[in-house]
Amino acid sequence: MRFVLKECAWEALGDELVVVFDPRESLVVADPDGKIEALLTELNRGAQTVRQVRSALLRRGFEVTEEDVAAGLKGLDSIGLIENADDRWLHSPSENDRHFSNLTFFGSFSGITRSRADYVRRLRDAHVLVLGVGGAGSSLVQCLAGLGVGAMTLVDRDDVEPRNFARQFLYRQADIGRSKVDRAAEWVRDFDPEIDVRAVDRWIRGPEDLADLTADADLLAGGIDGARDANLWVNEAAVRAGVPFVTGLAGRTQLMYTSVDPGNSACIQCDEVDRPDERETSSVGIAQRLTLRMRSSNFLIGPIAMQIGSLIAYEAMRYLTGFEPPQAAGVRVVLDLRTGLTPERQPFSQDPNCPVCQLAPKKGYGRT
Ligand SMILES: [Zn+2]
Repeated sequence: MRFVLKECAWEALGDELVVVFDPRESLVVADPDGKIEALLTELNRGAQTVRQVRSALLRRGFEVTEEDVAAGLKGLDSIGLIENADDRWLHSPSENDRHFSNLTFFGSFSGITRSRADYVRRLRDAHVLVLGVGGAGSSLVQCLAGLGVGAMTLVDRDDVEPRNFARQFLYRQADIGRSKVDRAAEWVRDFDPEIDVRAVDRWIRGPEDLADLTADADLLAGGIDGARDANLWVNEAAVRAGVPFVTGLAGRTQLMYTSVDPGNSACIQCDEVDRPDERETSSVGIAQRLTLRMRSSNFLIGPIAMQIGSLIAYEAMRYLTGFEPPQAAGVRVVLDLRTGLTPERQPFSQDPNCPVCQLAPKKGYGRT
């Protein structure tokens, strides 16, 4: 394997070296004999093997063995400064251009054993089942397409209407009256012909209506509306298939996202245990009953819808690539409009008697 230094800068300060990679923080490394600085300088010249680095250091007058160099590289890897030079990029200049920012982003998380190209390939190899291409869903589709998710199945049963235009920027005036999923699939094909996209124009009336779609999906994302239990149906279909599910929604002054890691985290059904009982005669019970009965016009606006869509896409990215663990598994992450979108994490426990969790075929997300 060859190694290369990531984009960083450094300067000697007495016996120490100040190194900046992420502008939010600096690293101070002890370097009394200047060996680390020499190592950084050599790795900054381009891709090199351990043997090549050792030869360069010997020429500079540092008596080091290959083991010394390997230990130094391991140390630099542990602070995120070097990566696998042979798997930094994809196979063609056009692919590298297309995914330039995706590759650069993953360069912040790559290392000797985790390459930035591998993260992008994981997205390219992934199949995401997108539930709903309306408010949050249309920006979710756009985010997933930008990330280069290789295959998407889009599910919805709505037509484009003039009132969608406050928040669903995937559609054009000429689309009014057309099936949303058909138009959304066209958008994806126009955006990136490499993405394999399928439109499923279907009402979802229970988990069984998703059974044929979850079989070859790596992740379910989004949410369908129209029925009180719609999200529970998707949750059940995801858990039964052992496929992670990421969803989000907005209340009048809050937005929220959460995810389900089947067999490993609580699921949406587990969260139902803590809901106030609408049959109770307490004020809490009555309020819950009123909330469930209340019909509210859709108050979702563009900035909020896009926020939910992007949070779902980002959590999906965690599952699909493993660049970091899922952050919302068994946690409602709530952003409060009354406090400037301050996020608050609200964990909920797995219900040991949850009838849905018991359907999970295996433990852990294990897809990374
Ligand atoms: Zn559960």
